[in-house]
Amino acid sequence: MGATFVGMPPFPEAARTALADTRLRRNLGHATATIRAKRAAVVAELDDWEDLRRQAAAVKDETLTHLDEHLLTLEAALTERGAIVHWARDAADACAVVAEVARAHGIDEVVKVKSMATQEIGLNEALAARGIAAWETDLAELIVQLGDDLPSHILVPAIHRGRSEIREIFRTRMAAAGRPAPDDLTDDPAALAGAARLHLREKFLAARMAVSGANFAVAETGTLVVVESEGNGRMCLTLPEVLVSVVGIEKVVPTYADLDLFLRLLPRSSTGERMNPYTSTWAGVTPGDGPQEVHVVLLDNGRTRALADEYARQVLRCIRCSACLNVCPVYERVGGHAYGSVYPGPIGAILNPLLKGVGSDPVTDSLPYASTLCGACGDVCPVAIDIPGILVHERVKVVDAHRGDRPKAEALAMRAAAWGLGEAGRMALGEKVSGLVGRLPRRRGMPGGRGALSWLPFPGSRWTGARDLPTPPVESFRAWWRRAGRDEEVRR
Ligand code: SF4
Repeated sequence: MGATFVGMPPFPEAARTALADTRLRRNLGHATATIRAKRAAVVAELDDWEDLRRQAAAVKDETLTHLDEHLLTLEAALTERGAIVHWARDAADACAVVAEVARAHGIDEVVKVKSMATQEIGLNEALAARGIAAWETDLAELIVQLGDDLPSHILVPAIHRGRSEIREIFRTRMAAAGRPAPDDLTDDPAALAGAARLHLREKFLAARMAVSGANFAVAETGTLVVVESEGNGRMCLTLPEVLVSVVGIEKVVPTYADLDLFLRLLPRSSTGERMNPYTSTWAGVTPGDGPQEVHVVLLDNGRTRALADEYARQVLRCIRCSACLNVCPVYERVGGHAYGSVYPGPIGAILNPLLKGVGSDPVTDSLPYASTLCGACGDVCPVAIDIPGILVHERVKVVDAHRGDRPKAEALAMRAAAWGLGEAGRMALGEKVSGLVGRLPRRRGMPGGRGALSWLPFPGSRWTGARDLPTPPVESFRAWWRRAGRDEEVRR
């Protein structure tokens, strides 16, 4: 029923393995470059893009400041329209609600619309443990699920897979899950999509229950919104008798008019399109039309923890467009699995520590460092989240959380530097040593022609294991000053 991120190593270790995978890097490099170019072209068409970003950020910030009121308005509107609202404190609560609804109807198979919230809570695995099969209907999610793989991108979870790999997965795994792939299946994209369509159509027609997320939830009307590109979402939201939607509490927007902004920002930022192909909205139950029992699970799972951080709460503005992933030089080289979470890339590097808290899990603690702080993610974010600022903010929290531990190599190096720089004689000695290091053979050139060392013995290896060290100058500034006779010059 799918793999999980449990047991993944911290980012530096996972990244080293990923960097050695040349096929992964080629697939990712090609895919992210294509999406980046499409996004840049459609964003450039709008003169008021920066205004839209500012407005969207303001709407989200206002909503987050009064989140409790908007959520109660949403609950009342949903209930009035016939939906049953559940509040879930964490993943276990949310999974239990979905399983209980299925059990009450004697259902052992559900279809799913792609949903980050249900991946976050491990719903498929939780349902499988109770004997309920959950089938993904988004093409990329289907590839991940059939391949017993993990998603590696928010929007394109199978971005790390090439066409021939997808053909192989369909050929060998589809039959066990339902309608098999045709015997003569090629790796032509149209043929692969055709095989998936036939396979999924049987699932849609047989399913009595669907599970979805929501991109937005409108408080005033109790309307849930899903945007997608394949039409599978619409099939799930209309055909089954029972629908359960798991919605993060940050998805709420106050009014229907507010949606306008986000439906303009999201497709341009995510798929590089002016409009997304399918926008489905639903509110409660309509007799004789669509699902006749609708449940909405409002999910916290760490969101109120993030909300409590006055600076970093802006992370809850995120509309999961994935633009920050596509421009990130780190993500482009290591892919999504290295982040050990369904939320990879720059957003994952800040969202995971904020949802889970830092200090107890080495994978989460490693994430704020999974960035060069180049700032590209913050520049493209359609809701203007200061991602680089939050990365630094979270690094401070990680350091604070470990102050009582045995000092790390970095802390020892800083203490040694403070001691060495604190007195003129010690600093002069340090300059002599650094001049000797500068004479070591240079293995590699840095931009601008400066030499660099790619290997140092321990403890220097902690640095050169992941980065080059620019070689220190052979002659210190003070030595040059004396040699150039500047003292006499100044005295004259
Ligand atoms: S942080 Fe911004 S750019 Fe990244 S996924 Fe969220 S909305 Fe998109």
